[in-house]
Amino acid sequence: MRQELCIKLYEAFPDYFQERHLPETQSCMAYGVECGDGWYQIIFDLCRKIQLINPENFRFVQVKEKFGSLRIYYTPCTPDTNLAVSAAEHESDSTCERCGTKENVTQEGGWIKTLCTTCREAKERRWDV
Ligand SMILES: [Zn+2]
Repeated sequence: MRQELCIKLYEAFPDYFQERHLPETQSCMAYGVECGDGWYQIIFDLCRKIQLINPENFRFVQVKEKFGSLRIYYTPCTPDTNLAVSAAEHESDSTCERCGTKENVTQEGGWIKTLCTTCREAKERRWDV
């Protein structure tokens, strides 16, 4: 995810992303949010949901893309936080990782990526078109 969007998340939810200040040997959050820009809104909405649940000292341990889906590791794991995070991960399965649309999204390729038709064609030419 581009720096500008990561910073927006950090500024809106500083406590949840507090581990970004730790060295990479202690937390994967040191690498930032490791997925495409298209999933920004899913992560933002998840943070808003977490605020409503208001678990004690909630923080992300790792946020990344794996096998075409958003993978989020966090603490504490409670029934409510588990449900909110699962819903966000599930939503990423049908949301283009590059542009965020939910139209014409498929998961395919040897290296699975969740993309809409437009972004898939752009990726075939070059990822950053
Ligand atoms: Zn797209």
